[in-house]
Amino acid sequence: MSQAPIPRPGILDIAVYVSGANQVGATTTLKQLSSNEGALGPSPAAVAALRAMAGDMHRYPDGGSTALRAALATKHGLDASRIVCGAGSDELIALLLKSYAGPGDEVLYSQHGFLMYPIGAKTVGATPIAAPETGLRTDVDAMLAAVTPRTRVVFVANPNNPTGSYLPPEEIARLHAGLPAETLLIIDAAYAEYAEGRNDYTAGIELVEAHPNVVMLRTFSKIYALAALRLGWAYCSAPVADVLNRVRGPFNVSLSAQVAGVAAVEDTEFLARSRAHNEAWLPWLTEKLTGLGLSVAPSAANFVLVRFPETPGKTAAEAWDYLAQRGVLIRKMASYGLPHSLRISVGPEDELQEAVRLLGEFLAA
Ligand code: PMP
Repeated sequence: MSQAPIPRPGILDIAVYVSGANQVGATTTLKQLSSNEGALGPSPAAVAALRAMAGDMHRYPDGGSTALRAALATKHGLDASRIVCGAGSDELIALLLKSYAGPGDEVLYSQHGFLMYPIGAKTVGATPIAAPETGLRTDVDAMLAAVTPRTRVVFVANPNNPTGSYLPPEEIARLHAGLPAETLLIIDAAYAEYAEGRNDYTAGIELVEAHPNVVMLRTFSKIYALAALRLGWAYCSAPVADVLNRVRGPFNVSLSAQVAGVAAVEDTEFLARSRAHNEAWLPWLTEKLTGLGLSVAPSAANFVLVRFPETPGKTAAEAWDYLAQRGVLIRKMASYGLPHSLRISVGPEDELQEAVRLLGEFLAA
């Protein structure tokens, strides 16, 4: 008689990643402020490019994402041969871990770092190590203190999800300087474009240019508003790009993602509008929530982490239910070890107004 195959050690320690939308069953009728997606819908140029490629979908896409890498290289002034595209930055996180960590190795990240870091580490049999944060911020000294001879990969998200905290370039450089020469530092800059306007964010690129053991990850899921197409990219040294190109699937980025990605990169007007939306509504949301008596972590991204009281009737879990029952979906944070907090994305104006109105009603009840 056959039986279910036994997975490799560590696989069954992984808790399934439950996305914001999967916190509830059906998603389409809800106002979704749970996954930090683009607030303005996709770029109209990206939509047009996607429609125009439909007749070519019987062909395999360009396995090297050539036009997309060229567009990114031009926009950011980078070497296209050192850009590797992936099916979301999630895929690149997984490929980097598969290439550089394995059983017996440690993968270090900051306490409230993105969930795919420990999930990806366990998937390859490595041990995830969370360094403590100080006041919901990545603590470089604590990260460095947690480094051991077995630390192979270090993740730092800047700005960080879900805290929204931002590490100045000097701090990331200090983290890099304290790591062993052969340890890989991955700067996950998924939300970099939101920080750019306020903090002149370039630290990822500068460190990659200076050191072969640094990778910067970017995504099209946030400010470029193409989350459904699954598109991300890595900028890295030539040896790391070579490794990623060996281990990735031959056609890992779909044609739809490639053509929409090129259009989105070139749509600078859409990018400026998206950034302006965030610059207006992030402070608005922070101020309104603070005004309701809630504690809001300062954010450099397109979401806020909000701490709720532990008083029965006013808790985060009850607030989440209250909003969900009224059609507004925000993100529970228990899986990040923050059971008393909820994360709210800076979505469209009407959805933000509704979320704030409902939270006011909930807290006043
Ligand atoms: N890194 C961070 C910090 C994120 O918040 C996310 C998305 N939630 C990702 C990576 C993954 O993004 P994607 O796979 O959609 O590119």
